[in-house]
Amino acid sequence: MCGIVGYIGSGNVYDILIKGLHRLEYRGYDSAGIALVNDAGKLAVYKAKGKVHNLEEYCNDKPKEEAVAGIAHTRWATHGEPSDHNAHPHYSEDGNLALVHNGTIENYQLLKDALIEQGCTFKSETDTEVLVQLIEYIKVKNDCSLLDAVRKALHEVVGAYAIAVLEKDNPDTIIAARKSSPLVVGIGDGEFLLASDATPIVEYTKDVVYLKDEEIAILQRGKPIQLVTLENEKAEIDVKKLELSISQLEKGGFPHFMLKEIFEQPKTLLDCIRGRVIDNGKKVMVNGVIDNKLKFIRAKRIVIVACGTSWHAALIGKYLLQDMCKIPVAVEYASEFRYSRPVLDNNDVVIAISQSGETADTLAAVKIARKMGAFVYGISNVVGSSIPRETDSGTYIHVGPEIGVASTKAFTGQVMVLTMLALSVAQLRGTMTDKEITEIAREILTIPEKVDNILKTLNEKVKNMSLIYTYARNFLYLGRGYSYPVALEGALKLKEISYVHAEGYPAAEMKHGPIALIDEEMPSVIIAPKDHLYDKIVNNVQQVKARGGSIIAVVTEGDDLISQIADHVLEVPKVSECLTPIITSIPLQLISYYIAINKGKNVDMPRNLAKSVTVE
Ligand code: GLU
Repeated sequence: MCGIVGYIGSGNVYDILIKGLHRLEYRGYDSAGIALVNDAGKLAVYKAKGKVHNLEEYCNDKPKEEAVAGIAHTRWATHGEPSDHNAHPHYSEDGNLALVHNGTIENYQLLKDALIEQGCTFKSETDTEVLVQLIEYIKVKNDCSLLDAVRKALHEVVGAYAIAVLEKDNPDTIIAARKSSPLVVGIGDGEFLLASDATPIVEYTKDVVYLKDEEIAILQRGKPIQLVTLENEKAEIDVKKLELSISQLEKGGFPHFMLKEIFEQPKTLLDCIRGRVIDNGKKVMVNGVIDNKLKFIRAKRIVIVACGTSWHAALIGKYLLQDMCKIPVAVEYASEFRYSRPVLDNNDVVIAISQSGETADTLAAVKIARKMGAFVYGISNVVGSSIPRETDSGTYIHVGPEIGVASTKAFTGQVMVLTMLALSVAQLRGTMTDKEITEIAREILTIPEKVDNILKTLNEKVKNMSLIYTYARNFLYLGRGYSYPVALEGALKLKEISYVHAEGYPAAEMKHGPIALIDEEMPSVIIAPKDHLYDKIVNNVQQVKARGGSIIAVVTEGDDLISQIADHVLEVPKVSECLTPIITSIPLQLISYYIAINKGKNVDMPRNLAKSVTVE
């Protein structure tokens, strides 16, 4: 995810673009850049690693006053580390074009190889540079307009994009297009604005056009907006009125980043799966696993190290890897592992999980494990962060910047990556048949839509239900098997943002102690999907009820047994057991969010917590 801004008109191009970048900074903030063109055909590109204010500092003494159009970008790297040279905009080979891009070009390597064969040279490691080079190559080869070159190039591209292109010799025009990544055009008085969301636009105009997939916008000074399809057919211009206020827009219309991120999960899960579950579910390709086949085939044991929410994802990973790959798995708190004098050797694979890729304890565990000869694999969200750099290989979860401190979409992204990783390893170790793998892989493709449905059906219900429980002072979260780590994560979420004491337990452990806590004042959240432990958890539900505790149960759609016992049931769709954690964790996120809101807490920045724990 990243932010794109564009402007053409008589306003101060530089100022408008920088202000727009600030508004979009929540979308990405590892580097930023700006391209400005003036009437004399000078196309200048300025870029800087870091946040938008670093770019501003860098631009302080640069000429920018005469610009008549410009495009700008705040990056959240997917291909190539965050750096000056990987920052957007990217120039084409002869410096005639500058382009910004949001998304990923899946077939970029193929296109890059072909362009290199034609003599193109590349200055960055990004997939984006391939796109601008391809556009220029097509333009020169066919001696065609920029619009035709963009159209033709986009036909060649597999992946997601929102792009904006500036041409040196044509300072009157910006060409923009999108597929799967958002782009909005603002129509002002003699000016056009362009952005990833309406945030940078709203103070200049309320008239906007949301581009549709595979539409191209031609924004020309002094002319009305034109829209065409990739086939060069005119597309309908549907001007909408913006109704949102600036402050709402900064969170994409949501009151908090956390809620926005909860609701983003259908999209972030799709991003996470993209390019990994391929051929309509026939294959699962986790590149880091495939590139290190032998390590995974020969592994005698897997040790997963992580902290906090990532540690809960790790526990789910243990169930997945054991079930699918028949390999022993140990899960360790990184902070304990690093000081536990661990016993490891080169037959071990260590998986380190950290959203930020900077978690200090996990990073230290990585270093120890490597020193002891283990093969170390990282799972992180932030490209170019320390853990991906320090590990032998790894996978990014690709869920976009997570701003809310309490992790939601990163957790489901981690679990999704672990599921795909386990399938990939099972493929290599021959512990599952092709048919079994395909069945789960196909089901993975349906998960984003299922999550979307859960959000649509349960949001209001949980919101209302939360009012009843706002003043409960303690909660128990119970689950078995795959639902046990989900219970831990649900309890942690509630603690983090509402400061209510909540304990997660494996449901069967209850009778060994915690059951003593149950009374009318102690609600239990029981995660009870229809899996192979269903009958057992029904018992646990009965035991809580027998002691007068109230029960919120997360159950599979159509469950008419638990619904007769529990006080509240939250139904989720039926999925294979290994996929239940992603599905059942969604209502728990909503429960913690609404209880914290009812209590008036700052859910995005809970006290004492930081997003990235870079200290021990
Ligand atoms: N894939 C591009 C890159 O890595 C764009 C990422 C983004 O959307 O910020 O540079």
